[in-house]
Amino acid sequence: MSLFPSTREEALARIASVKPAEYARTRNALNGAVTQLSPYITHGFVSLPEVLEGVRLQHTVNSQDKFLFELGWREYYRHVWQHRGDGIFESLHEGVLPDGAYAEQIPADILQACTGVNAIDMAVKTLYDSGYLHNHARMWLASYMVHLRKVHWRVGADWLYGHLLDGDLASNHLSWQWVAGTGSHKPYLFNAENVARFAPEAWHSAGTQIDSSYEALDNIARQTLPVAASARLSRSLSHLVEEPSLMPTPPTSLTLGNPNSNVANGRDVWLVHPWSLGDLPADLPKDTLVIGIFVSEFHRDWPWNEKRWLFVQNRMAELASECWYGDRLSIELALNGAKELGGVTDAHIASWLPSTGKYNPWPSIFPNVERRCDSFSKWWNFVSKSPSF
Ligand SMILES: Cc1cc2nc3c(=O)[nH]c(=O)nc-3n(C[C@H](O)[C@H](O)[C@H](O)COP(=O)(O)OP(=O)(O)OC[C@H]3O[C@@H](n4cnc5c(N)ncnc54)[C@H](O)[C@@H]3O)c2cc1C
Repeated sequence: MSLFPSTREEALARIASVKPAEYARTRNALNGAVTQLSPYITHGFVSLPEVLEGVRLQHTVNSQDKFLFELGWREYYRHVWQHRGDGIFESLHEGVLPDGAYAEQIPADILQACTGVNAIDMAVKTLYDSGYLHNHARMWLASYMVHLRKVHWRVGADWLYGHLLDGDLASNHLSWQWVAGTGSHKPYLFNAENVARFAPEAWHSAGTQIDSSYEALDNIARQTLPVAASARLSRSLSHLVEEPSLMPTPPTSLTLGNPNSNVANGRDVWLVHPWSLGDLPADLPKDTLVIGIFVSEFHRDWPWNEKRWLFVQNRMAELASECWYGDRLSIELALNGAKELGGVTDAHIASWLPSTGKYNPWPSIFPNVERRCDSFSKWWNFVSKSPSF
C-alpha cells in the first residue's frame, strides 16, 4: 500500500498524531517524528490553519515552536514567490561559481542510484519508491548534485519537483537555491559524519567522496571540476534503478473528460484543481456543479510521475462530478456560460484559471507581508507578531 493514501482522512490522522515536542527534538533524524504531511499540504487536502488548529486541539503551540517555524518556511517561500514571480526560477544572486560552470544534465549514475555514495543512492531509491524524502535527505541530495557533481541547481530542482508527491515550486526551487548558495550566503555542505549521525546504517557513506572535512568539501564546491563519477556504474546492470518517467499528460489509466460547455451552461460551478483538494465549502448550495480541472499548459512545463497523477486524481474524483484535462482556453470557453464560477486559487494555477471566476485566496496562518523580505528572519519578525499566535 502507498505510504500516502489519497484521502483527507489520512491527512487528518497525520495531523492528530503530530507531537510538537518530539518533532522539535527529533526532526533532523531520518526516522524522527516528522509529519509526512507535505503531499497533503501541497495539494490542499488540508490548509495550514487546519493543520495548526488540529495540532492545537491536543498541544500548546506558540511562536517559539519548531513546528510552527517549519510551517513558516513554507509560507516564507510563498512570500518570495509572490514578490519575485518567475524570478525564483533563476539564481537570485551569484552563487559559489557562475551559473555557466554547472552542467545542464544530471549524470546517469545519480539518476540510476548507483553513485556508490550510499546516502545519495538511498535518497534516489526512496524518492522513486515513495515520492517523498525527509528534509535532510533532500538537502544531502541537492548538495551532492550541485557542489560535488556540478549540476546546475535549476536542473536538479526541476527533476526533483517532478518526482515528489509534494513538489511545490516555491519550496522546492528556493530550497535548491538555499543549498546552492544562490539564495543564501554560503553553500550548504554535508559529510559522511553528518549522515551517520542522522540516518540509518544503510545510508552511511564512510570511505566515499563525502567522507571528508568541511574545509575540503568547501574547496571542492569552489572548484569548477566535478568529482569523478564512481566506478560502480559500469559494474553490474542489475543494480541500476530505472527512473520512473515524468509525464506531461495524464496516464491513460485516468478517466478525464474534455472541457465541455454543455455541462456547465447556466449552472453554478465550483472549480477544484490539483492545489485545492480540501473539503468543499459547507455552505456550497446543493445544486452547485463541482468540476475538477487539469490545465495542460502547466503539466507541459512541469511533468509529474504517475504516482502523483494518481494521488491527485483519486481525491479530485471524490470531490468533483466531472474531471477535465484541457488547455486554458478550452477550459475558459467551456465555463463561459456558467451562472456563477468560484473556487480557491493557488499560485501554481492562478494565471491559468478562467478569468470569469471569483476565487478565494488560499487560507494561511500567517499575515500577508506587503514588503518583500529577503531573509526568513526578517519575514518571521513581521509575522510572529501576529495576534493569531
Ligand atoms: C532540496 C529541497 C527541496 C524541497 N522541496 C520541497 C517541495 O517541493 N515541497 C515541499 O513542501 N517542501 C519541500 N522542501 C522542504 C522540506 O524538505 C519538506 O517540506 C519536508 O521535508 C516535508 O516533509 P514533512 O511533511 O514530513 O515535513 P515536516 O518536518 O513534518 O514539516 C511539516 C510541514 O512544514 C513544512 N516544512 C517543513 N520544513 C520545511 C522547509 N524546510 N521548507 C519549506 N516547508 C517546510 C511543510 O509543509 C511540511 O509538510 C524541500 C527541501 C529541500 C532541501
